[in-house]
Amino acid sequence: MIFVDSHCHLDLSGFEEFLKPRLVGKTLEYYDVDLLVDRAFQANVKYMLNIGTHLSDVDKLTEISDRFSNVFRSIGIHPEYAKEHCEKFSFNEMREIFRRCCGLDKTVSIGEIGLDYHVSNDVEQQKKIFSFQLELAEEFNLPVSIHSRDAWADTMEILEAHPKVTGVIHCFSGEKEFAEKVLNTSFYFGIGGTLTFKKNTIFQETVRDILSLDRILIETDSPFLAPVPFRGKLNEPSFVVHVAEKIAELKNISIDQIANQTSRNFFELFNKAKF
Ligand SMILES: [Zn+2]
Repeated sequence: MIFVDSHCHLDLSGFEEFLKPRLVGKTLEYYDVDLLVDRAFQANVKYMLNIGTHLSDVDKLTEISDRFSNVFRSIGIHPEYAKEHCEKFSFNEMREIFRRCCGLDKTVSIGEIGLDYHVSNDVEQQKKIFSFQLELAEEFNLPVSIHSRDAWADTMEILEAHPKVTGVIHCFSGEKEFAEKVLNTSFYFGIGGTLTFKKNTIFQETVRDILSLDRILIETDSPFLAPVPFRGKLNEPSFVVHVAEKIAELKNISIDQIANQTSRNFFELFNKAKF
């Protein structure tokens, strides 16, 4: 039985401000990438997809995947950094950085990309950067990892304009209407720690009743959104097992089945990723 964490952030060097108040008895060294990967491996989380959010991540993502045979990488510009990239780079410069990295073996996707209207005054730039990266996904024939917060309608509209692109809706949060829309596409649902939160009953119902297992990937989004029983603490890839357990409980099937099917889904979607 193996698990795959389909969305995590392993390089925590830029996250100190976020990490420090949440260490609860641990040290920053405890979250060193070697130890994170090792603890994941011990927990049968044998593969991970390390996700980028900014073009300054590319070298670090490359270095980590070169070092660990079981860590794949995804490069992309998170909507939060859309404005900054529009101001700093031309589209040709950005395309060149993607071109250098997308041809490498362990670059299996583009992401995380999308729209985040939670706090935003840069909707137009977000849309431009999102569409641009979907074009790159078409050009390089790579799936995408979608971040969409408070922006479902626009996200779907832009995705529909790129029907050849497939991928995963990362951190899906269970809205039934949105689930139905996604089910009509080829996209997978990235299910993370929020599924285990007691109050998320609608999300749990959606997973139980609407999502079929062949469309689900499991993820942590670590260091964020740790599942129960670690809620409020720092998340890490080994905890993805708790997400799988919750899906098994909801669907009333064995955790082996969840592990097998979600791992198979991962390798089917990110078809450059190999066992
Ligand atoms: Zn993420």
